[in-house]
Amino acid sequence: MDKNRYLIFCIFIFMILEIDDTYFMQKALEEAEKAYAIGEVPVGAVVVIGQTIVARAHNLTETLNDVTAHAEMQAITAAANYLGGKYLNQCTLYVTLEPCTMCAGALYWSQLKRLVFGASDYKRGFEAMNVNLHPKTAITKGILEKKASHLLRKFFFERRG
Ligand SMILES: [Zn+2]
Repeated sequence: MDKNRYLIFCIFIFMILEIDDTYFMQKALEEAEKAYAIGEVPVGAVVVIGQTIVARAHNLTETLNDVTAHAEMQAITAAANYLGGKYLNQCTLYVTLEPCTMCAGALYWSQLKRLVFGASDYKRGFEAMNVNLHPKTAITKGILEKKASHLLRKFFFERRG
């Protein structure tokens, strides 16, 4: 393969990966919409193995009266139940908002293969707090970021009004 062809091949592969990430983040956004519809802070998540969604979840802190019921926590539990094992080292977690330090801790213990998040959370996100995920966890951010943060802003704006 000459250099140009190799470059085109790489761009093609990159585009396929991007399309996948956008597709699954859209599914996570649909979960966030479900949270929004019931008055929960609109954050959604899906867990994917290969091309299959094995868990879907959204924030349920109000419904369950449980401050730990973040979308990621629900998704981790659901995926582990599906797998019949506690480690998510074959899984990609898509979540609409950057995980908080609690969820980052849980993701650390799960040995997650890959984390993809939408909007950054500059106040309470794990990156802002300098918390590390598992060294084996790959991170991609900014996928459908605008849609995710628009939904969150809409939610908090309506709450204030
Ligand atoms: Zn969290």
